[in-house]
Amino acid sequence: MSTVPSIVLNNAVKVPQLGFGVYQIEPDEVRGATELALDAGYRHIDTAAAYANEAGVGQAVRNSGIPRDEIFITTKLRNADQGYESALAAFEDSRRELGVDVIDLYLIHWPYPRHNRFVDSWKALEKLYAEGAVRAIGVSNFLEPHLDRILAEGEIVPAVNQIELHPSFQQADLTRYSAARGIAVEAYSPLGQGEDLNSAVVRRLAETHGVTPAQIILRWHLQLGHIVIPKSVAAERIQENIDVFDFSLSEQEVVLISGLESGLRTSGDPATFDFPQI
Ligand code: NAD
Repeated sequence: MSTVPSIVLNNAVKVPQLGFGVYQIEPDEVRGATELALDAGYRHIDTAAAYANEAGVGQAVRNSGIPRDEIFITTKLRNADQGYESALAAFEDSRRELGVDVIDLYLIHWPYPRHNRFVDSWKALEKLYAEGAVRAIGVSNFLEPHLDRILAEGEIVPAVNQIELHPSFQQADLTRYSAARGIAVEAYSPLGQGEDLNSAVVRRLAETHGVTPAQIILRWHLQLGHIVIPKSVAAERIQENIDVFDFSLSEQEVVLISGLESGLRTSGDPATFDFPQI
């Protein structure tokens, strides 16, 4: 079974560098998919209140028989629940849905700047952290101005910024900016929701190494130090996506893949994204 290395967050908590994302996995499908991932060796699951599938993730974790402290669980505060008291209440809902006492990483899902409640939400996350209800707190989809406000008005530096990041959309400035402040960069949609798998460069490198395009892209992320959370519901792809620790890319090959930037955003623009249900 693959051994996934850990990234040490800015509060010394360790997170497995490769995890399993469960966005768009239906509630009745998520338990089975998460069980497949745990069987394959994943020990890090990324869900969110907005995915409406936390309960199935929690069931899979309990059914696995794996000690709770060996599995890292992330969930997220949805936009409609932003605000101090509402964030605290939403956290209790997530904790109950997951059926766990402590959540490993709790993120503000989007800055939702039009509402201007993300600093109040952050203060709620700081309280949860101080109480030991979460092992680490962070943000997702935060751009430089949003991070600046958290750093200026909050007490705790976010442990993680989970952002859209894949070869065709790398957010290089934001990645550098986050990392320079001790905020670990977590790549969501690491395969560009599958779009980046068709790149000729990626396909050629896959042939060279005798691996798949998905494995080439995941290897690129890992070698750049990103935390990475690919999603699939297919057993063979779940396995394939974690079998990425027995080959490596040369520095030149990493640079070649980094040359694929094309501005292909697959998710919303955080400056304007304001769906309350997410
Ligand atoms: P992804 O880049 O992981 O791509 C997933 C798609 O790629 C799958 O639906 C499948 O069609 C394909 N795929 C996966 N493995 C493959 C393989 N080995 N071979 C061929 N095709 C393969 O996209 P994603 O699901 O958007 O992102 C992953 C995770 O990131 C999500 O599940 C979620 O946990 C997180 N996420 C977070 C946010 C956020 O706002 N914070 C937004 C989107 C996703």
